[in-house]
Amino acid sequence: MEFRSTRGAPERVGFSTALLQGLAPDGGLYVPVEWPAFTIKDFDGATSLPEVGERLLAPFAVGDRLESQLAAILRDAFSFPAPRHLVPGSEADGGLEVLELFHGPTAAFKDFGARFLAACFEWLRDSREPTLNILVATSGDTGGAVAAAFHRRAGLAVTVLFPKGLVSPTQQRQLTCWGDNVRSFAVRGTFDDCQRMVKEAFVDEVLRAHQQLSSANSINLGRLLPQAVYYATSGLEWWRTRGSKLSFIIPSGNLGNAVACIWARHMGLPIGDVLLAHNANQTVPDYLATGTWQPRASKATLASAMDVGHPSNMERLRDLYPEIDTLHGAVTAVSIDDAAIEARVRTDYARFGEIWCPHTAVGVEAWARLTPEARRSQKWCVVSTASPAKFPETVEPLIGGKVTVPPSLAALLDRPSHHEEIGSTLTHLRSALG
Ligand SMILES: *Cc1c(COP(=O)(O)O)cnc(C)c1O
Repeated sequence: MEFRSTRGAPERVGFSTALLQGLAPDGGLYVPVEWPAFTIKDFDGATSLPEVGERLLAPFAVGDRLESQLAAILRDAFSFPAPRHLVPGSEADGGLEVLELFHGPTAAFKDFGARFLAACFEWLRDSREPTLNILVATSGDTGGAVAAAFHRRAGLAVTVLFPKGLVSPTQQRQLTCWGDNVRSFAVRGTFDDCQRMVKEAFVDEVLRAHQQLSSANSINLGRLLPQAVYYATSGLEWWRTRGSKLSFIIPSGNLGNAVACIWARHMGLPIGDVLLAHNANQTVPDYLATGTWQPRASKATLASAMDVGHPSNMERLRDLYPEIDTLHGAVTAVSIDDAAIEARVRTDYARFGEIWCPHTAVGVEAWARLTPEARRSQKWCVVSTASPAKFPETVEPLIGGKVTVPPSLAALLDRPSHHEEIGSTLTHLRSALG
């Protein structure tokens, strides 16, 4: 399988090159040249995440160095479950399904993609070359997931950039508790600044001259493709037991998680509608409403991991659906403000006893705003992107109590923390990486 850039450069690369490069040389994002087409029968007998993943991702790795390792990599990456459940008490409103993607080491869905990528890089690393440095811009969860996935892997290093003061204290501790091969920088700027610095670093001759750089942001195909696996697995399971397609509501920022779902559906997996639930950063809902693409500076919200004003993966979505009309047929989007997030966390704790993280609350609020007919005409599943225990500062005052911290997360929060502060230009990053 070959991959091309969304920006139209003629060159084609294989799977591992796409992973190692992160971003295409013309600044675009890698997408498959052709799509595999699956039928449901192709997955007969495959029920677990690694089993479904092996069949779903095999065509992408055909002829690549990673082909023979794919099964082992998937078992390593998908070593924890992605359970789905019906929210008890929601039946009268059409029944709300929730897919929990937060049972990994850093309690957010990004563990899946980060672990897949780390396992791939460990196989791909050339021991004769200098350390492969993974640059990652994070609005909160990416950095922790990537750091956890790459920590202490030989020949690999991680540089985390996060916006100073714009991640929660609990998140910051997860970004800065690693040491060893992981360095963390608080950037005096926004997440968009961090993302721009990473993009600039990749095309910077000075840095590239003495460093092997790669990315682990959701722009990396190796983060995005494995995320299609849980949608495929969950969609198949629903189809087999209920004979209908499951529709997903996805709390979205940079659109990596959503594009993975849309890709899975595009390849033939039984997935119904996709509703993008954004916070007050409403670039995507506005685009769908007006047809004008107007990226803007990101705004700080309670769902901080979704504070993205210029979602990178829109480029992949528009590559798949270049016409606004076909895009309208493929996704819908809503924007939910902080007041509604708070109200949703409070209400659903009282009503259902469920504790949502602020990001998941955006998705659940989007579900609650559907018309009763829309809620009953098909089955909706909200993707729960993180454990509420990652955001105690926000959640605990709303529920008037403590959130139980999963043991793996508690262990991370106990580690000593260290980071450096830098300005928001490429020059600052160059000297920091020295
Ligand atoms: C990253 C993240 C999101 C947004 O995912 P994208 O792939 O950037 O759209 C939502 N919720 C949480 C908890 C996250 O960490």
